[in-house]
Amino acid sequence: MSDIRFQSKRAAHTEIPRPKKGEGQWSLGFAEPLNKNEQSKKDDDPLNVENRIRFIYSKRGFDSIDPADLRGRFRWMGLYTQRKPGIDGGKTGALEEEELDDRYFMMRVRSDGALLNAERLRTLGGISTDFARGSADITDRQNIQYHWIDIVDVPEIWERLDAVGLNTLEACGDCPRGFLGSPVAGVAADEIIDGTPALEEIKRRYIGNADYSNLPRKFKTSVSGHPSLDGAPEINDVAFVGTVHPEHGPGFDLWVGGGLSTNPKLAVRLGVWIPLDEVADVWEGVVSVFRDYGYRRLRSRARLKFLVTDWGKEKFREVLENEYLGRPLLDGPSPERATANGDHIGVHEQQDGRYYVGVAPTVGRISGAILTSLGDLVEKHGAAGVRLTSYQKLVVIGVDGDKVDALLDDLEVIGLSGRPSHWRRSTMACTGIEFCKLAIVDTKQRAADLIDELERRFPKIDTPISINVNGCPNSCARIQVADIGLKGQLVLDDDGNQVEGFQVHLGGGIGLTTSFGRKLRAHKVTSAGLDDYVTAVVGNYLDGREEGESFALWANR
Ligand code: SF4
Repeated sequence: MSDIRFQSKRAAHTEIPRPKKGEGQWSLGFAEPLNKNEQSKKDDDPLNVENRIRFIYSKRGFDSIDPADLRGRFRWMGLYTQRKPGIDGGKTGALEEEELDDRYFMMRVRSDGALLNAERLRTLGGISTDFARGSADITDRQNIQYHWIDIVDVPEIWERLDAVGLNTLEACGDCPRGFLGSPVAGVAADEIIDGTPALEEIKRRYIGNADYSNLPRKFKTSVSGHPSLDGAPEINDVAFVGTVHPEHGPGFDLWVGGGLSTNPKLAVRLGVWIPLDEVADVWEGVVSVFRDYGYRRLRSRARLKFLVTDWGKEKFREVLENEYLGRPLLDGPSPERATANGDHIGVHEQQDGRYYVGVAPTVGRISGAILTSLGDLVEKHGAAGVRLTSYQKLVVIGVDGDKVDALLDDLEVIGLSGRPSHWRRSTMACTGIEFCKLAIVDTKQRAADLIDELERRFPKIDTPISINVNGCPNSCARIQVADIGLKGQLVLDDDGNQVEGFQVHLGGGIGLTTSFGRKLRAHKVTSAGLDDYVTAVVGNYLDGREEGESFALWANR
């Protein structure tokens, strides 16, 4: 493995005393791994697992896989073992990981905000049908996630993806995960700046690059020039947010250190303005700060947000400028507050007079058949393609005005509504106990059932109320930033039995209003009682709100 720790482009060193008990930061001389994850990454660059999958494991089968690859380095190729069916959530923490491992994999395909044309959609659909038992979910990082992948099929899946310019490289692992871009980049009439060239350049230079494949933990990127903040910049490790400099014009505001899970933090503005053609360089600077100064002793403190919190934004900017960029950055203005929802659902006119159409699969669940049909519809109606959103939804791009109604009707037939209820539009769910080894409760089906019930009980609700359902204390579906955030855990039912349920967070949001929801300790609800609980909360809001008062404002009074 190339030892990148001492190859950084640091121009001058900021004096940072080495703490007595250190956090394992490479830049402070902690060269020896302090936990097994760090040891595994040092033993072998995780990117090397690609060849072992291609030439050894896929030929010899599941039982030939080295456990250090299976439960570690496979992630760098977008592969996790999925949960063995039939193991209930009460056993999640009690069993060893190998006892939870199925012989099949979850696989993530990056989209990085790119357009999926008809050929790409059909390829993605064909892979699902041929190798993933028809499964496909849209994740909130704009990935397509398959299940039931057999190791013997992985090389052929990669070949099919490669033929249409897609891949699974670094879709998981301690590396730069799939990027978020604006789903309406380059077409939205109200766009500030199109970030697509910057995303493509970052991907071209740095994904699959061994200098950035051993980070302290995952590293999440967002680049969007749309004023709705549709790339969830508040909760990414690094975010470039469209803004207009009074002298230099459109460019990007730089935010760092956002992230959820335990100890959630909103990203902080560094107060600098970055032109489009410097985004990739500055991205490299930020990821290098993280690589060299990020904490590597404890996995629970290894995200960039902890370093940013400890340093503060002034010191972070100083280290970025002095040690990595070798020049000061321009001061810049704050972006305007978002004034529109960033999910892009519905029909919107583009800057070229055509339209984009945002539709809502239920909690991101689609299928191989739907992906293939989408490809056919894109071709039939002469659209440019589809982009995925950070809300588990999708947007059809480049539709002629006289084709919009027919497209909407055809989409409805395959289960994708451009006119969804507020409930279907505003609910997300993580993978949950169906496939995730960390899960305690069911999420996707539970959330879909909740949507059906709320549509029946509140068919005419006049305002969106976001509901995010997570299967464990991690926050893959962003519990802290939903109006109603549901964190999966075991709770006691009326008879004192431990059953699936949720801890409730109320009044969070990103985009239009940014705040973390309040965790209400007394609000724990069984999964069976969820419909009635949400009904009661929504009823209280509708009865008690002032005119025009959003759910988040009401909940945080
Ligand atoms: Fe799995 Fe928990 Fe993430 Fe859901 S929130 S996908 S259960 S780790």
